[in-house]
Amino acid sequence: MKQAFVRTKPHLNIGTMGHVDHGKTTLTAAITKVLAEQGRAEYTPFERIDKHAEETLRGITINISHVEYETETRHYAHVDMPGHADYVKNMITGAAQLDGAILVVSAQDGVMPQTREHVLLTKQLGVRYVVVALNKADAVDDLELLDLVELEVRELLAAHGYPDAPVVRVSGLRALAGDPEWVAAIGALLDAVDEHVPVPDRYLDAPFLMPVESVLTISGRGTVVTGAVERGVVRLGETVDVLGLGGSVRTVVTGIETFGKRMESAEAGDNAALLLRGVKRDDVRRGQVVAAAGSVDPASLFTAHVYLLTAEEGGRRTPIVSGYRPQFFVRTTDVVGELDLGEADLGIPGDRLDVTVRLGKPVALAAGQGFAIREGGHTVGAGTVTEVLA
Ligand code: GDP
Ligand code: MG
Repeated sequence: MKQAFVRTKPHLNIGTMGHVDHGKTTLTAAITKVLAEQGRAEYTPFERIDKHAEETLRGITINISHVEYETETRHYAHVDMPGHADYVKNMITGAAQLDGAILVVSAQDGVMPQTREHVLLTKQLGVRYVVVALNKADAVDDLELLDLVELEVRELLAAHGYPDAPVVRVSGLRALAGDPEWVAAIGALLDAVDEHVPVPDRYLDAPFLMPVESVLTISGRGTVVTGAVERGVVRLGETVDVLGLGGSVRTVVTGIETFGKRMESAEAGDNAALLLRGVKRDDVRRGQVVAAAGSVDPASLFTAHVYLLTAEEGGRRTPIVSGYRPQFFVRTTDVVGELDLGEADLGIPGDRLDVTVRLGKPVALAAGQGFAIREGGHTVGAGTVTEVLA
């Protein structure tokens, strides 16, 4: 039998971002080293983080490294990306639904172009909390210069809606070497993350939602829908809506099972089969969602941030224009939609675009929802919903 995961602390997803060579990977290694000495992480050396593990998400390949560690109050999954392009793809595909980001800025160089771009992207994609690691502080003796760089970073963040981001002066390199002053600074950085980034309520406190993967008929009992619970909890006897793709049925959950075992309730992360009272086989279908009654209003018009894959990444060879009608894959849904590029005349493979999308049928959507754009069986882009319009 599989051993149950014992959850003792709330879990958060964070990641390093910032300009190339400002020290993201060194800092990530240093965090694991400092915490490993307290028994709260496994030390992951620089080379292992930087070995460019490839992952595929929504049909798109990205280079990403995950490390795990704990502080006194939280469990963190932390992602680090080798290159700027990986960061952009990772953010847009939703590979890391970051609860908070550690912006790494070299005290020697200050704010650089990718620093700005990552802050902009982080804001657009709905990451609400940023903590600044003013790195390489060991290499700058002039305190006035350090103050000046800190001011510059604070101005950048304030201008993008992060007015109270804490700034902590660190040296990933010296902390890795075990220098007590800088080991303490890593502690201060983690304290700032613990304090500044709140525990998200995405899992159990959020209204119940489960994308429908399949629909079955169990003779003598009725219609059952299966799927992985995305958020919230559903209990026996609760009223739910099954909706999306133009349909909507209100019903009551009269049975819950997981892998053939009966349950009183199913929660975020569970694979569940729900028996629905009085629902006929044809009333519901794959691609819809089961949601707490009244909690979801399907929508078909939204704005999004989209990344078009290059030909090398498996994307298109030719540009797109407004009126382009690919397939949109959202959760288990596959629906046609039309893109409006707004002011832009063309979308060239490799571009990041702000677009408006009109889906052929309404789907349960919220800001932050990731989706893939496909054409002829190939993924040609990925996007994140920025605002639901109608
Ligand atoms: P990344 O591209 O942001 O992941 O940066 P890296 O972690 O690969 O670091 C880039 C370079 O900066 C390497 O040569 C590091 O040794 C150096 N570096 C990283 N952190 C520090 C630091 O705190 N102090 C100093 N002096 N150098 C650092
Ligand atoms: Mg790196």
